[in-house]
Amino acid sequence: MLKVEQLHAGYGSLEVLHGISFEVAQGSIVAILGSNGAGKTTLMRALSGLIPIKSGRVEFEDRPLGRLSAEKRLREGLALVPEGRDLFGSLTVRENLVMGAYTRRSRFEMEQDIERILDLFPRLKERLHAHAASLSGGEGQMLAIGRALMSHPRLLLLDEPSQGLAPIIVETVFDVIEQLNKAEGLTIVLVEQNAHQALEVAHDAYILQGGSIVLNGEAATLTANSSVQELYMGG
Ligand code: ATP
Repeated sequence: MLKVEQLHAGYGSLEVLHGISFEVAQGSIVAILGSNGAGKTTLMRALSGLIPIKSGRVEFEDRPLGRLSAEKRLREGLALVPEGRDLFGSLTVRENLVMGAYTRRSRFEMEQDIERILDLFPRLKERLHAHAASLSGGEGQMLAIGRALMSHPRLLLLDEPSQGLAPIIVETVFDVIEQLNKAEGLTIVLVEQNAHQALEVAHDAYILQGGSIVLNGEAATLTANSSVQELYMGG
């Protein structure tokens, strides 16, 4: 579904990603693991069109994305849940969901979509008219995912969904990720520092270090790899 070949990207003259290649099969969850500064967020930005790529090729459903803008990528079915969530704090939960529907035309469909998201995240139903700024970290992450789902993506890019969340909430967020994949067949790329959780839900994983992929394989194989355990799973 997604094919990335020799992707180079960065900021101005600073190159952060030095020729990244990976593939994501339809219906799978792929984890990209790496420590602070490895280039995970830069990769998510490049895939979602927020920063231009310097060279390389990204194909989504067999079509090259080229220099397509972030908005057009969203319309094509590729949605990002950004690091730190980027919610509209002074808007309510419902208003944030409505903002996520701006690529869709029918009001009726939008209301149906909001109902679907609230079924998926019952906690958001209780907080529907609360300002996003007042949400807990876990609620905020649910809302950020819900808002991305409003555009009906076929590929969801998740940038560190566990960031800043208490362990028990991390579990809930990963349960939701697994459910979206299993029940709805949503294809997901997940970047994470939290290797434990990410490898539990992912089918395949890639390890990003200093802007290059240094190791990849099936998630179960990487979980059993002693250097992965030592470097990314706290021994
Ligand atoms: P983290 O977990 O800290 O978010 P990361 O793996 O997501 O780490 P990136 O945020 O992609 O890493 O950062 C990779 C490198 O790019 C770092 O050296 C960082 O300083 C640099 N960088 C990130 N954003 C910018 C920017 N807007 N302008 C210039 N350099 C940046």
